Amino acid sequence: MFAHGVQSTLEGMRILSPRTVPLGGVRAMTVRRTLPQRGRSTIGAWCFLDHFGPDVVSESSGMVVPPHPHTGLQTVTWLFAGEIEHRDSVGSRQLIAPGSVNLMTAGAGISHSEVSLPTSTIVHGVQLWVALPDADRHVAPFFEHHVAPRVALGDAQVTVFVGALAGVSSPATTFSPLVGIEIVAPATSSFVIPVDATFEHGILVDAGEIRVNGEAATQDELAFFDVGTKELRIQTGETAVRLVLIGGTPFTEELVMWWNFLGRSHDEIVAFREQWQGDVIDGGDDVGIFGHVDYDGLAIPAPAMPTVILRSRRNSASAD
Ligand code: MN
Repeated sequence: MFAHGVQSTLEGMRILSPRTVPLGGVRAMTVRRTLPQRGRSTIGAWCFLDHFGPDVVSESSGMVVPPHPHTGLQTVTWLFAGEIEHRDSVGSRQLIAPGSVNLMTAGAGISHSEVSLPTSTIVHGVQLWVALPDADRHVAPFFEHHVAPRVALGDAQVTVFVGALAGVSSPATTFSPLVGIEIVAPATSSFVIPVDATFEHGILVDAGEIRVNGEAATQDELAFFDVGTKELRIQTGETAVRLVLIGGTPFTEELVMWWNFLGRSHDEIVAFREQWQGDVIDGGDDVGIFGHVDYDGLAIPAPAMPTVILRSRRNSASAD
């Protein structure tokens, strides 16, 4: 095991630890959430990172997330193992499997369901959200599915699911400078990932343990690197590793995030919630901005609004 060093400086690496959150109700699986968290709400425009599995579907019932809404963001689903069926209110019905990126741009409003298939024995992967800039957050919703390109970087196999790295580019639609890649590498290997120094970055360790630019990170941790980092020199430990690297230019707009909604003010979130509850949960004739998902079961009602006014959260220079 690598021991953690002293708390890093502003220029160095900072470890963001996960918290465990139940996903989609009492029956469902739990996820390990590393974004947002206290002191760090975004890495570039990446504003949410859930890490799940490997879960044995027959034991946990896998992932069962009935229809629910989103606004102002994109969801990126990237699987390491298993199969999930995605359905949404723009008529998409897509089997999600490893090697392909699934990108849903909620824009002005969408709803979707995600259910792991009984034929898959294990479900294992990440779901990320990307905040849309103000100029683009009201776009009409759409869904896309792409095979992600791969490239070898020394001993490491890199799959680029968002943005570009080492000469290969993902066709996934982005609205701000972003990168999202999976890295797989054998035990006791070392390699260098060249990165954009204008980006901040995070490396999620799915399996194994690593040193990055000399500092240690281990399974389920998200290692954060501030802007100014030009390369990530990675050494692996006694076992093979799987990593997810995310990055982007710092997102400086105010963001108010509550439940599945991303907006710019408390009042806007209240309005989104009222539309979801009125149009979908309480059932009107008007399907409204969130549309209808062809799903055998009930949609997820929004929780009650908190009694406090929702405010924008900011990133802080230190974890304290
Ligand atoms: Mn969702």
